[in-house]
Amino acid sequence: MPDLAETYDAYREDPAFAHLRTEGIVLVPGEGSSTPKVMIVGEAPGATENLQQRPFVGASGRVLRSLITDVAGLDAEDYFITNTVKYRPPGNRTPTVDEIEDSLPHLRAEFGALGAPKVIIAVGGIALMVFRPRGETRGILACAGEAIELRRGNWLVPMVHPAYGLRNKSFRPTMEKHWEDFGEWFRKEFQ
Ligand code: URA
Repeated sequence: MPDLAETYDAYREDPAFAHLRTEGIVLVPGEGSSTPKVMIVGEAPGATENLQQRPFVGASGRVLRSLITDVAGLDAEDYFITNTVKYRPPGNRTPTVDEIEDSLPHLRAEFGALGAPKVIIAVGGIALMVFRPRGETRGILACAGEAIELRRGNWLVPMVHPAYGLRNKSFRPTMEKHWEDFGEWFRKEFQ
């Protein structure tokens, strides 16, 4: 089983992403606990993430990180943050279906290198698409904040992308409630 660094080396060498590896675009690895209970998966890095080579450090990232720590109350050792696609798509476009599908083996390897965390938080519709169980047809707004059991003891929690909350200020209280409820559920289930 490859370790975390090896999974990112393999992504860097994957010819499927040659078109994204243009000048100035670098791989943005995940970061956080090496033994997390929660793996938080977004869509793809933006300009700030590409510059700093860290996930969720721009405007959306500041919101997300505050929801994780201040609202849900997770500790640093509880979680790991990463993205489905690890290169910034040009012009901040949505990743293509091919880019998402070509990222899946790497995402699986990353999940394995982290010791198969019990909870996956899918941040936004793209990550939900990747992890959604068969038969779950609801969109992100309809199932956000719910803990959906995938296999016994393995959970998927879809969350609305913080960029949506930034564009729709009236949605912020709902988003905060989702994370607050998640924090309560997490402590009951895992601590
Ligand atoms: N949005 C994402 O989905 N991921 C990031 O890292 C930043 C913004």
